[in-house]
Amino acid sequence: MEHRDPSKGPPKERGPTLDKLSMLDEHGSKRTIYPAEVHGRWARWRPIIHYVLIAIYVALPFIEIGGHPAVWIDIGNRHFYLFGATFNAQDFYLAFFIFTAIGFSLIVAAALFGRVWCGFACPQTVFLESVFRKIERLFEGKAAERRRLASAPWTVDKILRKTGKHLVYLAMATTIAHVFLAYFASADRLGQMIVEGPGAHMGTFIWALVLTLIFYGNFWWFREQLCIVICPYGRLQSALQDQDTLNVIYDKARGEPRGKAKEKDRAKAAGAALGDCVDCFRCVAVCPTGIDIRNGHQLECIGCTACIDACDDVMTKLERPRGLIRYDSLRAVETGKHRFWRPRVYFYSFMGLLGLVVATAVIMANDPFEAEPLRTGTPFSIVEGTVVNQVRVHVVNKQGQPATYRIAASPAHPDDARFITLPQPEVHLEPFADHDLPVIIRIPGADWVRGRIVHLEVTSSFGDLKKEVEVKVLGPNRLAVPP
Ligand code: SF4
Ligand code: SF4
Repeated sequence: MEHRDPSKGPPKERGPTLDKLSMLDEHGSKRTIYPAEVHGRWARWRPIIHYVLIAIYVALPFIEIGGHPAVWIDIGNRHFYLFGATFNAQDFYLAFFIFTAIGFSLIVAAALFGRVWCGFACPQTVFLESVFRKIERLFEGKAAERRRLASAPWTVDKILRKTGKHLVYLAMATTIAHVFLAYFASADRLGQMIVEGPGAHMGTFIWALVLTLIFYGNFWWFREQLCIVICPYGRLQSALQDQDTLNVIYDKARGEPRGKAKEKDRAKAAGAALGDCVDCFRCVAVCPTGIDIRNGHQLECIGCTACIDACDDVMTKLERPRGLIRYDSLRAVETGKHRFWRPRVYFYSFMGLLGLVVATAVIMANDPFEAEPLRTGTPFSIVEGTVVNQVRVHVVNKQGQPATYRIAASPAHPDDARFITLPQPEVHLEPFADHDLPVIIRIPGADWVRGRIVHLEVTSSFGDLKKEVEVKVLGPNRLAVPP
């Protein structure tokens, strides 16, 4: 193994090769990547998008819609609050349609624009690039300084910088862990738990601790490995994309053969033409996953566009056209032809729309309360020539608000009123509570016909909602009418 004198700094890296993952060193260990700072069109927009998304991620469990957090997954009580709509465990099947819609939307995005989600909207990229990387730069300086500091001996200055960085990392990881927990515990309840202290809520405290350590370890050390090794969406990209997918791409025909700017005139004089790439390695230096985009599109590229800005900057300084690295498709770079709508895009879009339409329709049709007839015990009895059925109407309050439920004969079937006795005509139910309302049905022999149905109406005090309940009356085929 080669041993270097640390005072000489790290070995000069001239970019990764294709025979190993960019994040691994020659011994197969994780290589620390120090992406250089970059300025440009994309670098101006990316933080704005990231901060808007961070604001949304943080706000969702805190802002209230309809008296509850906009998003609250109350696993303990098996209740879910989503932008004013409330669901209980029986509605869990909705998750299938919601995840189908989200999943196919991401697939459509991948087929059209490559890893646009990964580079611009994934929480891993958003927090890493716009929070943790910024903290790192604040304490340890630019890429070259960070690299120097990493191999420098432990001095007071290094200890202070590293300690400060890790303390702020821990504070940020703790904040993110608590925001994450607020999605499951609700912001109010979490605040109450924090005030009451860990001793009173040991389970939640352990969750907060574990999540804090996971976020801290991820954003300090694991970083790009999550995108390259763990994330299934990243691994699926090669199956979702094709020659027409827009990606961050290097224009090989224009860039090669590469050579230093000053060599270009010499080469021209010698009758050889050099491409526009001046082999400055700026695109490699700024890459957060440490790859060389000039080797072609690679699994590790998360589509962050940093190399586009870096190369545009170089081209501008050399007074050459920008766009040597750009957002384009393989087919367009090779033939100049763009093809946006393709069969796979139609198919993915159709599936995504289908999930979205079904999810929307089912959510819109989601009843705020349930009222279903239940039978228990003897199906029917005959008392003095009258068929008697004892049933229960199971009422579930599926709203996040308490409500009073009244049961009565349906006004649409006034005749049924004379057959029905309601020992408990109303009940007050807390959110997601349920109750069985007893109903006694008596059909005199003169009115008995097999298959008879009586109609009830359940009314909710919340929004004056009504639901009709049909009860099929059970009884004998024939009934002797008493004289
Ligand atoms: S930044 Fe542009 S010019 Fe420099 S090495 Fe990369 S592709 Fe070539
Ligand atoms: S190759 Fe370019 S777009 Fe891809 S991750 Fe590296 S810097 Fe970002």
